Amino acid sequence: MESDTILKIALAGPLRGFFDYLPPEDNVTTLTPGCRFEIPFGRSSRVGILISTNNKSSVPAGKLKRALSQLDQAPLLQPSDLRLLKWAADYYEHPLGDVIFHALPVNLRKKPTASKASPPGLRLTQAGEAVDAESLSRAPKQRSVILALQHHPQGLAKSKLAEDHDLSPAVLRSLLDKGLVTPCELPPQTLPSEAAYQLNPQQQQAVDRVRENLDGFQAFLLNGVTGSGKTEVYLHLVADVLAQGRQALILVPEIGLTPQLLQRFQQRMGHEVAVLHSALADGEREKIWHAMRQMRQHILIGTRSAVFTPMPSLGLIIVDEEHDLSYKQQEGFRYNARDISLVRAQQIGCPVVLGSATPSLESLRNAQEGRYRQLDLPKRAADASMPSLALIDIRNGHLKGGLSPALLKHLEQTLQAGEQAMLFLNRRGYAPMLTCHACGWLTDCPRCDARMTHHRQQKLLWCHHCGHQQREPVACPSCGSPDLRPLGQGTERVEEILRQHFPKYPLARIDRDSTSRKGSLEKLLKQVHSGSIPLLIGTQMIAKGHHFPSVTLVAILDVDQGLFGADFRASERMAQLILQVAGRAGRAERPGRVLIQTRHPDHPLMQLLIQQGYAAFAKLAMQERQMAMLPPYAHQVLIRAEANRSDYPELFLKQLLEGCQKLQHAAELEFWGPVPAPMERRAGKTRAHLLIQSNQRLPLHRWLSEAIEIFATLPHARKVRWSVDVDPQEML
Ligand code: ADP
Ligand code: ZN
Ligand code: ZN
Repeated sequence: MESDTILKIALAGPLRGFFDYLPPEDNVTTLTPGCRFEIPFGRSSRVGILISTNNKSSVPAGKLKRALSQLDQAPLLQPSDLRLLKWAADYYEHPLGDVIFHALPVNLRKKPTASKASPPGLRLTQAGEAVDAESLSRAPKQRSVILALQHHPQGLAKSKLAEDHDLSPAVLRSLLDKGLVTPCELPPQTLPSEAAYQLNPQQQQAVDRVRENLDGFQAFLLNGVTGSGKTEVYLHLVADVLAQGRQALILVPEIGLTPQLLQRFQQRMGHEVAVLHSALADGEREKIWHAMRQMRQHILIGTRSAVFTPMPSLGLIIVDEEHDLSYKQQEGFRYNARDISLVRAQQIGCPVVLGSATPSLESLRNAQEGRYRQLDLPKRAADASMPSLALIDIRNGHLKGGLSPALLKHLEQTLQAGEQAMLFLNRRGYAPMLTCHACGWLTDCPRCDARMTHHRQQKLLWCHHCGHQQREPVACPSCGSPDLRPLGQGTERVEEILRQHFPKYPLARIDRDSTSRKGSLEKLLKQVHSGSIPLLIGTQMIAKGHHFPSVTLVAILDVDQGLFGADFRASERMAQLILQVAGRAGRAERPGRVLIQTRHPDHPLMQLLIQQGYAAFAKLAMQERQMAMLPPYAHQVLIRAEANRSDYPELFLKQLLEGCQKLQHAAELEFWGPVPAPMERRAGKTRAHLLIQSNQRLPLHRWLSEAIEIFATLPHARKVRWSVDVDPQEML
């Protein structure tokens, strides 16, 4: 039908394309793209966003419905924001509506409700000021909160009270019910400000190079060893941008893992800094989103999804730890925030700085080819020197719970010298599996091709792939023998061995299990920082960002799977992890040592990494990729399918291959598969892969944009769950 104005509305969800509606009945405002509308949909209503207006619709006259109301008077998203989101939808072949709604704070994805988010602070009421805290001695947590607030008449953040004074929802309710406290806004934080350092010559050079380019697009790779002062470089650049009245966006892999970076930005730039991460309440996220959109705040530090935050005067993007896997979303809309940040900088014309001590091979190649300018910080900034790396050969030694005699001796020396030691093992739980000594039975997960991990403290068998849990058995379910033994070790078991071996020394274990209570991680980290805990065992939670001044010995227990992993990126990830963990050693005056236990001390990649460092390692790894024609020398799209019935996924991918191999550009592509996924059965479903590869990006994307229209029409498309992953980072 034809009409004066037809709204093209995008909705969240898997549906491609737009939905046509007539403007609302009482429409008076202009119909600008980027505004939200409430629209009738099926038997209920939904919130959609206006993409464009048009005067044609394929919907027949009379069937076209009217939108119910316009929810925003001014657009939430500007043309530049929509442009970026459209690019992302095209590139990742994901429905635009879903991409847009992913970029909006949760509260704006729904119909507006009257309920307002409770303010973040808490202060005493008059009754609370008057109350004698001792009268609450039977409720020690309430007492502790009241005492703290009596010392802070302007109020305290609820999150801080939860961390330091055990404020729980129940305690809060009791205090509110008694009328002793009331929610309040908090005054802007005034942290003791930290002076900027005098930059060293390398830092100065890096800052100058970027500074010269503040007015246009240019990508930089800031390649600086751990502790070389990258954060200091970011701070100077952000200060410049701020002085111009512009905004800066800093992406970090995970907020919890970068406390020092956050703190330093807040100390230098105070209330200009806003922080977006997944642990924030929806109301808080929305507030920050609007503050950025309306340019009331200028600096945003955030994780992956913050890359989409509207910032009209954005003048600089920084991506810290650019190699980190968490920039890639592995579900639904599978984008890479690092790559999006490059496109965003290019679209608006500002510099982007990718920082890392261990750059991804993708970024190194971009630098080699001149697309990025490389800036090097080869030395640590303060007086600290780089830690020394050495291997411990564990092929023939007798291990004690995974610890070699040589390592135990080094630990003992470190502890006796009054220094801190940190052990790294990327596996939580007591042991990766239990076995029956009589019949060889193993703790297979009933739903996956994997073993269930033994969590001894919780008395559980727990599959880390699907979450399946079972009580720990007392006897073998197969033969009845009580002789069940752990195979291999997790952090819980190493903790046990260390406690037996070094009973005099306080120890902390940091992993998801030991820090599941809110605030417990912060508590543990504080103790480690203060030096009161000399022995630390942890998973990747301790690998990144933290600055532990008195750690002089770092031990890496088991990374060998990185040398022979099924994924071609396994060795790159191993090298990055080793250097990340190693970077925790000797960050202050005393030099650090890193010991790596391995069964493959002669492996050339390992040798190169230990003796010559990451650059030499990366060079060899890059040659291997080139010979094998793998990324970054090729581009990939991975199509995954899974179903309850074991034959459907491969069948679907075969249909796909037949249906799409004749399309234009297909001759320029390589099709690998369909093959069973590396873990063929997971969470009760059978899974298969089809990998499509090309050494040119363009034909791959041209082919995909045509092919994707066909996928949904294939006979088995509705019998499997399928997904498209452009530039896959993991072949799981
Ligand atoms: P990176 O981000 O590369 O790991 P940081 O910026 O955290 O490095 O710097 C490491 C340490 O060196 C920090 O404690 C920091 O305060 C200090 N530092 C950084 N730049 C300088 C400088 N120019 N002079 C003295 N100390 C510095
Ligand atoms: Zn499982
Ligand atoms: Zn048995």
